[in-house]
Amino acid sequence: MSEASITWIGGSVLRAITKDSFQINEAALVGEQKLLGEVIRIKNQEIVVQVYEDTSGLRPGDLVTGNGMPLAVKLGPALLGNIFDGLLRPLTSATGTFIQSGRIAPAVKSFHFTPKIESGELLTGGTIIGAAQQQEGPLQHCLLPPSISGKVIEVVEPGEYSDEQTVCVIENSQGSQHKIAMSHLWSVRQPRPIAERLPTDRPLLTGQRILDCIFPLASGGRATMPGGFGTGKTVLLETLAKWCDADIIIYVGCGERGNEMAGVLRELPQLEDPRTGRSLMERTVIIANTSNMPVAAREASIYTAVTVAEYFRDLGLRVALMADSTTRWAEALREVSGSLGEIPSEAGYPAYLSSRLADFYERAGRVRTLFGQVGSLSIIGAVSPPSADFSEPVTMHTKRYVRVFWALDATRAQARFYPAIHPLQSYSEDIDNLVAFWKEQDHPQWLEQRRRFLTLLEEQNRLERMARIVGKDALPPRQQHILLCAELINEAFLRQSAFSEVDRYCSPARQAVMMQLITRFIELSLEAIEKKIDIERITNLPLLRSMRRMNEDIGEDDLKKFDLLRVEMENEFSKLMKQEFSDVS
Ligand code: ADP
Repeated sequence: MSEASITWIGGSVLRAITKDSFQINEAALVGEQKLLGEVIRIKNQEIVVQVYEDTSGLRPGDLVTGNGMPLAVKLGPALLGNIFDGLLRPLTSATGTFIQSGRIAPAVKSFHFTPKIESGELLTGGTIIGAAQQQEGPLQHCLLPPSISGKVIEVVEPGEYSDEQTVCVIENSQGSQHKIAMSHLWSVRQPRPIAERLPTDRPLLTGQRILDCIFPLASGGRATMPGGFGTGKTVLLETLAKWCDADIIIYVGCGERGNEMAGVLRELPQLEDPRTGRSLMERTVIIANTSNMPVAAREASIYTAVTVAEYFRDLGLRVALMADSTTRWAEALREVSGSLGEIPSEAGYPAYLSSRLADFYERAGRVRTLFGQVGSLSIIGAVSPPSADFSEPVTMHTKRYVRVFWALDATRAQARFYPAIHPLQSYSEDIDNLVAFWKEQDHPQWLEQRRRFLTLLEEQNRLERMARIVGKDALPPRQQHILLCAELINEAFLRQSAFSEVDRYCSPARQAVMMQLITRFIELSLEAIEKKIDIERITNLPLLRSMRRMNEDIGEDDLKKFDLLRVEMENEFSKLMKQEFSDVS
């Protein structure tokens, strides 16, 4: 065991002098209280340690002990349904209070283990070795650690075991034996290995129209959600946690103000899983670091979360990781870098901010696991840019590594237009991979209709400025028509309250039929305008009122009502045309 003696303490960082050899990223226990830390720099005889707990009380001369292993977290069946701090130590859900210092792993839990392997079998790393189940809660699988392979020389009978107890013994080709439990340790800084990366081919469905139809995220994709205070980041992330079609949700609350995080800690565990009717927590892991927790733990929490997410991906599951907010994480990075006396770069952030963001987002993807299954990890990171300025470093660097950008807009939020995603500032680069999915949903014109919606919204933006100067009525009918259609797209399609019983979730079928209906309205009204029918007569059609309200009036169980609306639309327009014709003759 290597030891060092503290020479200097600066907040969460300390320097120590040693004659032993330490490794970078080695876990270390500091002082009498055995505070958990990590070696982050080594220079000659001096090591620099980042401490994940409150360092008050430490003194120069106190001992730092290396444990010879990288900082690791325990991955296994004890994760689901629980709330942890940034180093995966359990927090009590009610209070979110601190854990006892020095504790590394989550509490030991017992499960009913059913082996899926036999003595004599040859296994490769990442194989599923059995199933674990608690009395309450879902059935989970257990993995052989990716780094271990060999012959099974012993396997337990089905029964109750703790997640740290040996359930099988593997002998590798060199003849050394490894005791394997349901849980295993994995370094948080090291991405877990996979067999191969696969192209993305279907969306992570969220039930939110502006996301699924306009700015979709592929399952295994990377998205960011920048937005100033109060623009709806937290509500949107919670909506995604609740409604997205991932198997597992990892929610990391990173240094948001303590009271906000407490809100999430209170609310998420109470949410009902719309798919099973049971608690959403059964398929969720929450990692919480409020701003009153040590800054270095906040820096680690993002890596911990993504490591946990990769573990579930390796079980062949579809995982969604939500981080709120990566800005607070970047600020932790800045603070630690400051304590180290590093030369600051843009806005005081260290020069490696960009590469750290890349390391994080690059761990998303759709993959073939070592066991040959397909798993995916989608990452969605909220960013809270100061003064909602999207040109600040965290937003700018994040933009380089994500493919989907959901810009939350303060003006929309002030007008209580939710989700406040700005249709002209947002984008998705996952579109091309998802056309086939919408074809399967009987919506082959999705791409074309999406383009049409966006074009109308862009033209609306231009025309509204003009309308403000000359007055809307002075615009030519074609332009008034654009404004009318864009307003309908906004009101009936993009607007969707997270709190509406009827509309908080929109199935792909409902999204498709709404999109088709609005497109049909655009076509028919355009035809009418071309036939010189007065725009006012179109604006006054009773049908238009029903269409504006269809998102709130027609729920998932009533999809047939959309057909009635369509018939009404065809009738009203044909009446309008006929009238016009008889007026002229
Ligand atoms: P942020 O996390 O960006 O500071 P919040 O998510 O806390 O913002 O949202 C602020 C308020 O805006 C919420 O309390 C809620 O009233 C409203 N809001 C945000 N998003 C939605 C939504 N999708 N539907 C309805 N109301 C919303």
